[in-house]
Amino acid sequence: MAEYTIKTPIEYLKGVGTQRAELLKKELGVFTLGDLLHYYPFRYIDRTKIFKIRDLTAEMPAVQVIGMLKKLEIFGEKKSRRLVGQFTDDTASIELVWFQGVRWLEEHLKVNTVYLLFGKPNFFNNQLSITHPELEVYDRSANSTGNIHLQPVYGSTEKLKRLSLDTKGIQRLQASTFELLYPTLTDDLPEYLRVKYGLISLPEALKGIHFPTDKVSLELSRTRLKFNELFFIQLKLLRTKFVNSRRFEGLKFVKVGQKFNDFFLTKLPFPLTNAQKRVIREIRVDTNTGAQMNRLLQGDVGSGKTIVALMSMLLAVDNGYQACLMAPTEILARQHYQGLKGLTGEGFVQLSILTGSTPKRERKHIHAALENGSLHLLVGTHALIEDVVKFKNLGLVVIDEQHRFGVEQRSKLWKKNSIPPHMLVMTATPIPRTLAMTMYGDLDVSVIDELPAGRKPIKTLHMTESSRLRMFGFMRYEIAKGRQVYVVYPLIKESEKLDLLYLEAGIEHLAREFPLPEYRISVVHGKMKPKDKDFEMQRFVKGETQILVATTVIEVGVNVPNASVMIIENAERFGLSQLHQLRGRVGRGAEQSFCILMSGNKISKQSRQRLETMVRTNDGFEIAEADLELRGPGDLSGTQQSGLLELKLADLITDQLLLQQVREGIIRIFTDDPELARPENALLKAYLMHQQPGISWDKIS
Ligand code: ADP
Ligand code: MG
Repeated sequence: MAEYTIKTPIEYLKGVGTQRAELLKKELGVFTLGDLLHYYPFRYIDRTKIFKIRDLTAEMPAVQVIGMLKKLEIFGEKKSRRLVGQFTDDTASIELVWFQGVRWLEEHLKVNTVYLLFGKPNFFNNQLSITHPELEVYDRSANSTGNIHLQPVYGSTEKLKRLSLDTKGIQRLQASTFELLYPTLTDDLPEYLRVKYGLISLPEALKGIHFPTDKVSLELSRTRLKFNELFFIQLKLLRTKFVNSRRFEGLKFVKVGQKFNDFFLTKLPFPLTNAQKRVIREIRVDTNTGAQMNRLLQGDVGSGKTIVALMSMLLAVDNGYQACLMAPTEILARQHYQGLKGLTGEGFVQLSILTGSTPKRERKHIHAALENGSLHLLVGTHALIEDVVKFKNLGLVVIDEQHRFGVEQRSKLWKKNSIPPHMLVMTATPIPRTLAMTMYGDLDVSVIDELPAGRKPIKTLHMTESSRLRMFGFMRYEIAKGRQVYVVYPLIKESEKLDLLYLEAGIEHLAREFPLPEYRISVVHGKMKPKDKDFEMQRFVKGETQILVATTVIEVGVNVPNASVMIIENAERFGLSQLHQLRGRVGRGAEQSFCILMSGNKISKQSRQRLETMVRTNDGFEIAEADLELRGPGDLSGTQQSGLLELKLADLITDQLLLQQVREGIIRIFTDDPELARPENALLKAYLMHQQPGISWDKIS
């Protein structure tokens, strides 16, 4: 018989097979037995409690009752055929009903026998009953709670359920996996750390989370697994940081040269804010130390990060190096390219753009110019990372909107030069401290905490469906003044089809309200070809259309100063940070700008609270904190694009203390044993060495 390990593909598990395996991979991301073990229940049904029939109500979730099956009778014909039983304890009786498996049940259930029942009480025909309860013969002589415990509930999907992989089915797979693997499971944390933090072993914890015997052991298991999640993310991040801070050799930008000065003196279209000046100075100092810079630049939407990026790139050019700027989407890359060209003017520096849609010939040309050094600045999408893209001497990499890229992508760019280039990572999503620690634990941080002077704060309103006509009236009023308007629809993956329908209906409605020739509308959504997207976008940018209907593709970076109204449809479906990003598309010119959050008339209290936060404040950091608090850990998975936030159990709010402890612990480890050369750290070293790059391109939009 084959040896089973955590790496064994899931299809080899008994009871799985190819068809189920396909779905487990697709729907749950479970590829191996090990993955399955790390597919945790999302809640538990407390099977330690036994209820009395007298106390049951229809409001209760599934409950347990011990009682005697008194009568068992079949009623009805064909479709209405059902098995009805009478179940009695010392307090009362309740009816049990089964519609399926009637014959089998009738044969196998025994009247006048004591059962442990598990099921949900329902009110039906004015009577309390339980439909399709589970019954198992209750063994009095066994330990009174011997066959009772916390029953795990696993997330499943319709497709999986059709192949009988519902929560029960998954539980069965867990059980057989445990049977195969339990004796071979080993710990991945050194013993001394387990002792230090009072943690149970990994095998115990896995067992405890899938087959908890009681609440205490479940809690110990969860703590251990949470610890693991936080620990290994931080281990990776802090390793990088330690490697860097141990003076990783870096390029030295010794001078501020002609390009930088020329730009500053003759081309800069506005005075820099103090915050911009400070950050440029920080970068200037950082790139002149001989160590590699790894800096995160945080600045709210519209705070003027682009100019900081450009001036940093000019610094690189002045010192004889090339620089590149990477953006997460084609649209954004183009916009940066146009923007930089506009700022620098013709012939000031050699500048190109490289994206997935760059024609082959041009691509070749760019590759050659990069290698011979005649091209100074390159803007692009993740196409920049490809191995065929080689630089003569890459000195600085700027990454915009970092949350869309992971550490792995960054490290690929590191390797584009024999001495790693300086890295400047820019994000417009202000991040709460805990999140920043988790996502960017390896970076130094600069903050632009000041908006350019003269900006009028955006006015935000929350409107419901019943004010739609008023909203259209307001749009007309603003358009009559020469302004342009964004209308944004949610397009969220799971319900894509529905959302597309909704988008189309919305466009039709707008077309009726804003007819040609007086009004013109651009439409941009993620399903369009980049070329078409670009075309539509450009019409809006040039002012040829007054309304841009879009899905969240415009979320990042688009800059049209004349657009002063942002309307967000179904605003309650967006995360706060996303709303804030979208709102940041307006308020870029001198005009008073508006953001209107449209929602249904009836929304949950929580949604209302969220929208109120948006109305109340323009401060990105405040919003980020609120987002984290309001959405809680579950929904935070929405921000998992980074691939770093794959926290299943840990909660960045309630586990802040644990995160802090983990971080301090790891810093101590690296301080005492930077190479992880000591035997007691062998497991950690092995982990870091076996880290696969694991880049998932589909996570980058
Ligand atoms: P973000 O930080 O969101 O990337 P941008 O760099 O796109 O912001 O800048 C937003 C807008 O503000 C642009 O139109 C830009 O030209 C303008 N801007 C940037 N810095 C200043 C400044 N110091 N004074 C006035 N306008 C500025
Ligand atoms: Mg930007």
